[in-house]
Amino acid sequence: MRIGVLAVQGAFIEHERMIEALGHEAFEIRQKRDLEQEFDGLILPGGESTVIGKLLRELDLFDILHKKIREGMPVLGTCAGLILLAEKLSGDDTVHFGTLPVTVKRNAYGRQLGSFQTVAEIAHIGEIPLTFIRAPYIECADDGVEILAKGDGNIVAVQYGNQIGISFHPEVTDCTAVHEYFLSLCTA
Ligand code: GLN
Repeated sequence: MRIGVLAVQGAFIEHERMIEALGHEAFEIRQKRDLEQEFDGLILPGGESTVIGKLLRELDLFDILHKKIREGMPVLGTCAGLILLAEKLSGDDTVHFGTLPVTVKRNAYGRQLGSFQTVAEIAHIGEIPLTFIRAPYIECADDGVEILAKGDGNIVAVQYGNQIGISFHPEVTDCTAVHEYFLSLCTA
């Protein structure tokens, strides 16, 4: 399979390595012509959602990716990527793709010191290590959104159709389980 990884800012290289370690092809989406090729799934990495959102528009990537997500292309949004997918942000009028019917609170675990690791059970995936880096969490999810995991009582992973939104960073651990699950959606 060929997976496009949005590579305008943030932790994209780690996602590419995960996809390649699992025997699939990853390519970087940096400019409009990168989107002329066929691909089977999209990863929106962690980083700074305000910067990524701005670059998506300035580089003319926004509309094409928005259309692909709306048409059902499997997408994995981690951390800032989750913020890009969210229909609503808590206390903020900004909406990026707005395709995932959840309300996300940015920097919910604190600005600088809010980075930590834990272990949790994720539906369809099993128990895995979770790494949070200035992470958001999902304050509420509409009916029809499957809650895949909670951490400390907060929702930290959801699935809605082919969209997976998670507030932690699976790409910075050795555990490939989240990417394997995402790739299973891309094959289906
Ligand atoms: N706090 C960042 C944001 O709001 C997300 C953090 C991350 O992706 N590690 O964009």
